[in-house]
Amino acid sequence: VIPATDSATHAAIEIPGLGKITVPIGLFINNEWVLPTKGQTFTVVDPSTALPIVDVAHAMAEDVDRAVHAARAAFETTWGNNVSGAHRGNLLNKLADLMDRDVATIAALESLDAGKGISVATSGDVPESANCLRYYAGMADKVHGQTIDQFGGKKLAYTLNQPIGVCGQIIPWNYPLMMWAWKVAPALAAGCTVVMKPSELTPLSALYMCDLIKEAGFPAGVVNTVPGLGSTAGEAISRHLDIDKVAFTGSVATGRRISVAAAESNLKKVTLELGGKSPALVFPSADLDQAANWLGLGIFYNSGQDCCASSRVYVHDSVYDKFVSLLKLKAETCKVGLPSDENTSFGPLISAGQRDKVLSYIDSAREEGATITAGGKRWAQAEGFFVEPTVLTDVNQNMKVVREEIFGPVVAVGKFSTEEEGVHLANDTPYGLAGAVFSSDASQVTRVAAKINAGTIWINNYCALSNGVPFGGFKQSGIGRELGTAGIEAYTQIKGVHHNLTEVMSWPF
Ligand code: NAD
Repeated sequence: VIPATDSATHAAIEIPGLGKITVPIGLFINNEWVLPTKGQTFTVVDPSTALPIVDVAHAMAEDVDRAVHAARAAFETTWGNNVSGAHRGNLLNKLADLMDRDVATIAALESLDAGKGISVATSGDVPESANCLRYYAGMADKVHGQTIDQFGGKKLAYTLNQPIGVCGQIIPWNYPLMMWAWKVAPALAAGCTVVMKPSELTPLSALYMCDLIKEAGFPAGVVNTVPGLGSTAGEAISRHLDIDKVAFTGSVATGRRISVAAAESNLKKVTLELGGKSPALVFPSADLDQAANWLGLGIFYNSGQDCCASSRVYVHDSVYDKFVSLLKLKAETCKVGLPSDENTSFGPLISAGQRDKVLSYIDSAREEGATITAGGKRWAQAEGFFVEPTVLTDVNQNMKVVREEIFGPVVAVGKFSTEEEGVHLANDTPYGLAGAVFSSDASQVTRVAAKINAGTIWINNYCALSNGVPFGGFKQSGIGRELGTAGIEAYTQIKGVHHNLTEVMSWPF
């Protein structure tokens, strides 16, 4: 291990609104900041200016291996079954309190790194993430097995819900801190130890959290962080022979690669939260202005870089024109701006590549005959990777913009004339992450909610997730669930124990 020096594992960076602060940029292994064995780094860019922020340590397979050793040692000595659930819960609560204390710094880092509006990060991403830690803190001492005593006194059987072990966690750039909390909180509450790989585009908040992990009092090796590319650190995690589970959020293509790597190495358990092309159905009885507000939020929140973005909206033909004019107005009045501006609700996309991909989807829509009803271009008022809030009409099911995930602020608005047709259009996709129905007819919303093939359905709202409600995908949108009790169960495994009380074994049997 190369000894760390402060200058190499930390750097002073300028954060709008906060001035110069020192942030960690190294690898976090065994509660220490260390350098990568090969000394490599990658550059993190500010998406609102396209300028570099800082170079961060790049973990290679050897570094992942060090992190796994630390996580294994902690699992076997100071964590897992060696400590009470109440103790694990107390530490998670302390960590959440430290996030509250540092909310301004964490929000500013997240805003700088991921391009989120500062007020969104301050009132949304950071407190929601702290609440996720608290939710699982409360569950840490409630994970237990069952007694099964239906054997006429001959034996007593019981189950133990034990932590799976060392967990690799690989997260994306769209909600860097929230995805960190969704992964780390249930894993630690269940007693697992963690090797975390944040996205190479947004590693700063996950690295900042490491100092808080140490300050909260978590034993060394419980959480280790190895920033790096997918092809290096990510691949090393999914192929590692001593990792028991990998939990991933990201694209379908990467999820597939991780499943293959897990299967080809040690058949580690895999949970996947993948992409979506989520539909919303708007019926004539809906409050159309409210529907336009919720669906505007659904597609423009986080600049559309949201796995459950409402990217396909189908409107009953009797209210189509009225709804489109409302949604156009929402797009034109959406507060696009610099992340550091308190009034910004929607900043840049994460990278030049993501911006160009989104613009090329808009070009394809134009070429395939769609109408650009709002937006459709780069947002010209700033450097950086901005795209205007965009509404596409005159679309059909064969268009690329209707079939593929765009991951940008672009919504395709189509028509239907019967409930049956609406449900058919909604389900005409390989994805199944989320969906929505807008109507004031109670039996209609209940019927349609049951028929849309997706892991989350919103009725007369959108985007509203809660720590207590399980989240995950049908079809190619994923395997397993996060949040709720299902979220912690994904980090435990059940052991059945048969205790003989009275039975005598005769021989030969
Ligand atoms: P991505 O798949 O490119 O990257 C996600 C993470 O995987 C990153 O940390 C990346 O470094 C890593 N990675 C890349 N290649 C890898 C490999 N071969 N082995 C191991 N790790 C690898 O996805 P992205 O572009 O960062 O995120 C956007 C995608 O994520 C979208 O498709 C979106 O729908 C999806 N997403 C889903 C959810 C959900 O909860 N279902 C949430 C957010 C994002």
